[in-house]
Amino acid sequence: MTHWSLIVLFRYSVFAVVGVIGLSIFGWHQTRFDTDIEGVFQLPSERLAQVLVFPDDQKPDITAYLIYPRGEGQNRWQEGLAHYVEHLAAEKVVRVSRQEAQHANAWTNSTSTGYWLNTKKTGLEEALQALVDTAKPLDVTEDFAVGERDIVLREYEYRFADKALEDQKYRLLSDLYENGPISQRVGGTPADIATYTLVAAQALHAESHHLSEASLVVHGDISPKAVAALLGRVDSDGVPVNVARPVAPLVTEFTEGRFETTVHADEVPGPVLLYGKLVRLPSCADQHVCGAAVDVLRRLLDSAQKGGLAGPLRYDAFVAREFAVDVTMMGPQVAEIWFEARPDRGVSLEKLLSTFETSLEGALALAGSSDRYLNARRDAMSDVKYVDNIAAYEAGWAVDRYARGLTPIGRTDYGAALELVRAGPLKAIAQDMSVPGRVVVLKINPLNERLN
Ligand SMILES: [Zn+2]
Repeated sequence: MTHWSLIVLFRYSVFAVVGVIGLSIFGWHQTRFDTDIEGVFQLPSERLAQVLVFPDDQKPDITAYLIYPRGEGQNRWQEGLAHYVEHLAAEKVVRVSRQEAQHANAWTNSTSTGYWLNTKKTGLEEALQALVDTAKPLDVTEDFAVGERDIVLREYEYRFADKALEDQKYRLLSDLYENGPISQRVGGTPADIATYTLVAAQALHAESHHLSEASLVVHGDISPKAVAALLGRVDSDGVPVNVARPVAPLVTEFTEGRFETTVHADEVPGPVLLYGKLVRLPSCADQHVCGAAVDVLRRLLDSAQKGGLAGPLRYDAFVAREFAVDVTMMGPQVAEIWFEARPDRGVSLEKLLSTFETSLEGALALAGSSDRYLNARRDAMSDVKYVDNIAAYEAGWAVDRYARGLTPIGRTDYGAALELVRAGPLKAIAQDMSVPGRVVVLKINPLNERLN
């Protein structure tokens, strides 16, 4: 079996947009995005929530993606069952890929389940049929289901090279999100995987794989008209007809508080600091501007320039051997600040934590001042502006946004939002992030260090 599934394990999120995905199933789709994505054609569809075609004559083949806006976050059964469902449903696309020697793959994350096929023009009809077939009730044999469960287990084994640290990250996420759906393990655990059954998978599939909620993205050397004609030939008999439902955001509220824990973990190569913080963003009015401001802020914090964290943590004082910082929108008005680091030689985790928090506070206080943020904004802007292949860029971004439960936004509109990220909005958002919020800290020491 060569089905390699991509699971985006946990840094991926969320806020599902109800407006676009939740609209009509029957009749022609009149919905348009409130943004214009360059070069995209939106086809009407009676069965799918969205069909986007990105014609691209620079691409010799065609890639078609089908994305359902439900993933592990909507799974009410054993943890990781959404990934198992993906394996069982992917059998339809894998079968086609074997025949046509095309590529096929699938993913599961907290907010979506997606399938894709890469094909020549002649194979597109069959590829589209296979993608639509993933919405049909799971009809695999019990033997196949058992075999696939072993594959999911093996995938767990090879994916987590650093299982001990991964366990700790999920422990932090569970505390940070108060055991909410966002902290469910997409990859499951061996104990959970062992209990997966075909019956449970069929039940979750029936709940999560509704064609009426799915978005189809086609990118390659083909016209929208040709895609429409092929879609007209795709047979959806046997696909349950469902009314699209609103997808609830995975994170809406949280309880404020601060929780610091020191743990001793087996198999961790050295001391590690994990830090997560949730804040509300009351100043976040326009989602696009807000997302752009968070993007600028993330770049600023991650930079070595003044106002970034690399100076105080590494270059000025050698406090952190390595670190990663991230800022992510987790809901319409909730953001997460994530920090993980290994201390430099002779530096305690307490010292690392206090240096980080002082530096973060200082960086946020200065975020909108002078021209510190201008470089970060210019970098973000040039990523959007200087694009070799616009269709590839826009299609990739549309798929990425759907996978996170978001509405696609074109690069022109995103550039316009970036343009609006000036000192004022940035200062307001940085201020929102400076409040105590909800903080969870794990100071992890290797077990052998304690014994020494
Ligand atoms: Zn997989």
